[in-house]
Amino acid sequence: MTRYLVTGALGQIGSELVALLRKSHGPDAVVATDIREHSGSEGPFELLDVTDASRVSALLHKHQITHVVHLAAMLSATGEAKPQLAWHVNMGGLLAILEGARQCGAAVFTPSSIAAFGPSTPTFDTPQQTIQRPTSIYGVTKVAGELLCDYYFTKFGVDTRGVRFPGLISYATPPGGGTTDYAVEIFEHAVRSGTYTCFLKPDTRLDMMYMPDALDAVVQLINADPSRLIHRNAFNVTAMSFTPAELANAIQMVIPSFSISYDVDPVRQQIADSWPDRMDDSAARAEWDWNPRFTLEAMVADMLEQTEKRLKTL
Ligand code: NAD
Repeated sequence: MTRYLVTGALGQIGSELVALLRKSHGPDAVVATDIREHSGSEGPFELLDVTDASRVSALLHKHQITHVVHLAAMLSATGEAKPQLAWHVNMGGLLAILEGARQCGAAVFTPSSIAAFGPSTPTFDTPQQTIQRPTSIYGVTKVAGELLCDYYFTKFGVDTRGVRFPGLISYATPPGGGTTDYAVEIFEHAVRSGTYTCFLKPDTRLDMMYMPDALDAVVQLINADPSRLIHRNAFNVTAMSFTPAELANAIQMVIPSFSISYDVDPVRQQIADSWPDRMDDSAARAEWDWNPRFTLEAMVADMLEQTEKRLKTL
């Protein structure tokens, strides 16, 4: 029987992924874990610091886990503030998960990021395989993580899989300190006050994706036919590519009075400038039929509607 353990389950991706997996497999088949306390979980929840290798291993055995979805990490902006801790959590946690999975025969899905690229990477149609010399500690851990996952597959036969996510946009759970968080925050500000001050320059182009497509990517790749997979751990995936000014224009199509201003954060601007403008995701399309549903306009319409609904319930 398929049994999932999700780390970092209270975060932006985990909170929605756990609900989706529980819908398809039943609440008891998905063990949610996080370093933070949680009440009101609809299925099993365990406190877990992913850097605690013996507890990782004990929980995988206790719950007879077949699939780990490893999401616990420090993201780009929070990582840059505490680089040593970011290395400890991102690499120490990943190693503990891979070792635990090796010992109990579980498969591992873990996301990499556009942060795995750097200023010397080609920015347009960024190839699946290309130069990866990131300048943020987050990016360094993402490249190292891609390689470590490849190593555990070739050396030990652990079924490791993953994608390079772009900035993810969602309304259910706030983002956890990334460079693309502006593209989430802007919606709440647009609905509440009709104005937003952006921490990136107006022409900063980045890949983005709406959460329903991101969740589809996770589920599709976990279930993909292994005989078709050539790349496994670091598939480029993207759904749209836009600048803050273009996102503001798309919001103004729905809320004409919306206005945006800019107060640039040099740390996050430098990180954003080192990332691709648009990735080539043809390998994911060819190897596991990746095909996102949401365009910029469709995402904006849904985000505004859902954000309005959510704010009314507060
Ligand atoms: P998030 O910051 O929203 O959530 C991370 C969760 O991990 C939090 O709930 C936090 O409490 C938990 N956590 C932190 N340290 C922990 C530890 N030591 N042990 C256990 N749990 C710990 O992150 P997210 O946006 O859900 O991202 C999940 C994964 O996806 C990460 O690997 C991230 O790098 C990757 N990713 C996210 C994005 C994005 O835009 N959200 C983009 C690219 C890649």
